[in-house]
Amino acid sequence: MTVFMTTAFLALGSNLGDSRGTLDAAVRRLRAEPGLRVLRISSYYKTAPVGGPPGQALYLNAAVAVEAAHSPQALLALCQRIEHQHGRQRSEKDAPRTLDIDVLLYGDEVMDSPELTVPHPRLHERAFVLAPLAEIAGSVTHPVLKTTIDDLLKAVSPHDCEKTPPSRPLTRGGLPELRALVTGSTSGIGKAIADLFEASGATVLRHGSRLADLREAAQVDRLAEDAWAGGLDILVCNAGADTLTGALAKASYNDKLEALLDIDLKSTMRLARTLGGRMKVRGRGVILTIGWDQAETGMEGESPQLFAAVKGAVMTFTRSLAKSLAPEVRVNCIAPGWIRTAWGETASAEWQERVRRETPLGIWGLPEDVANAALWLASPLASFITGQTIRVNGGVV
Ligand code: ADP
Ligand code: MG
Repeated sequence: MTVFMTTAFLALGSNLGDSRGTLDAAVRRLRAEPGLRVLRISSYYKTAPVGGPPGQALYLNAAVAVEAAHSPQALLALCQRIEHQHGRQRSEKDAPRTLDIDVLLYGDEVMDSPELTVPHPRLHERAFVLAPLAEIAGSVTHPVLKTTIDDLLKAVSPHDCEKTPPSRPLTRGGLPELRALVTGSTSGIGKAIADLFEASGATVLRHGSRLADLREAAQVDRLAEDAWAGGLDILVCNAGADTLTGALAKASYNDKLEALLDIDLKSTMRLARTLGGRMKVRGRGVILTIGWDQAETGMEGESPQLFAAVKGAVMTFTRSLAKSLAPEVRVNCIAPGWIRTAWGETASAEWQERVRRETPLGIWGLPEDVANAALWLASPLASFITGQTIRVNGGVV
């Protein structure tokens, strides 16, 4: 049984303000929605405006495939909330807009009400909708016209629709010429941190379990030597045992505990102690660790017991290390809340609802949200910040 029942397709358009940034942010917001999963995103297309006042700017259009537990009406309401958050104002028909999100298709559903018509009534006439949609749903059949999206696209003239290259990662230049080691950076939060650090000018040594098994002290030490030999400014101890979705998911309570202690806690202490000591002697450096916000508040269940014990230890270790390494080296901990990594992608409807209920912002955090905090903490903008636990948790206090 899957949680996300219906595949729906959305059209995104913008011709006011920073359209590319707006579409990027709208996609991020969709990715953070509990009970909804973004499956595919088309390229962004530069298109000529159809209708509306003369002299308006070109549009940027995209299509997104989602799998949603939302009803069609709830999906439209979500689209309108996101439009609103991006300053959408409704004036005359076809007026320029910061963001328009339309529901194109909702499974095979056919409905026509004043608020919502699916399939979207003008979908088949519009090249600026069909061109991006064909990229992600070419073989999907229009439930009323009984024609594929590819064939509908052939029937319109797709001029004035130009595919644009993908968005470049947001660069901020916050870490020029710096070198960083990010453990556990082949996926999830670690990968997001490594990607953002690179986009910000750093050279990143990416670590995965194939490069060094952090359960083996000798391999931890070798990783530390290699990182130091390459020159190391920033250490991010992110690696953690995946006891929820990985091979360890079926392990016993005790085996999970051992893995978490070895990887999350002991390897963090060993790396941070060895490399932190050298950074202090050299006179500068930054260390980040990853905790868990619910270690402080408590949460029911066996996995939360394990995480609380281990991540709680990481968080308290970080404070003592910060005092030990000051003033030369800054040491901080990021404590993520509900972040949508591998587990969150497919967690049950009950968990999706719980995330929505327990997070004041009502959405999942994304790995990028943790990475943005890490970038700030690693950069000189945080030069007066050490020994802190920064909660990235959507407002839980
Ligand atoms: P546009 O037609 O340019 O997208 P709006 O975004 O202002 O204009 O939408 C006008 C109305 O269209 C909305 O109030 C909405 O209720 C209605 N509507 C009907 N069907 C749909 C659909 N499939 N997707 C989005 N809006 C729809
Ligand atoms: Mg609309």
